[in-house]
Amino acid sequence: MSDTIFSKIIRREIPADIVYEDQDVMAFRDLNPQAPVHVLFIPKKPIATLNDAAAGDADLLGKLLLAAATYAKSEGFAEQGYRTVINCNEDGGQTVFHMHVHLLAGRRLIWPPG
Ligand code: 5GP
Repeated sequence: MSDTIFSKIIRREIPADIVYEDQDVMAFRDLNPQAPVHVLFIPKKPIATLNDAAAGDADLLGKLLLAAATYAKSEGFAEQGYRTVINCNEDGGQTVFHMHVHLLAGRRLIWPPG
């Protein structure tokens, strides 16, 4: 897969407001937030889209969601609620082809989304 802006953030070649990092996962604030809290959880392993995740990535995908939930609890908005979103390809609205989980919180989010 070709290099993306997120790979550059992982390598710290461009700045980001990193809120969480471990061996497998990094999380940073979205540059163009759609809610008071808008954090992106990404695997350090470059997987372009959810379609490209394989059976061997099951633990990694789980770690992304657990990292998001742990962050929500640690920041105190887990009980109030939040939304996690994975956009995939054109109709899903994906613009950065290094898969990521959006964590949105801090306002009432409408459903269904547009
Ligand atoms: P997608 O549309 O692929 O689901 O989400 C990509 C997200 O990455 C968008 O919400 C966009 O605002 C965010 N984004 C794009 N470029 C950058 C960047 O350089 N830094 C950060 N922190 N977020 C970015």
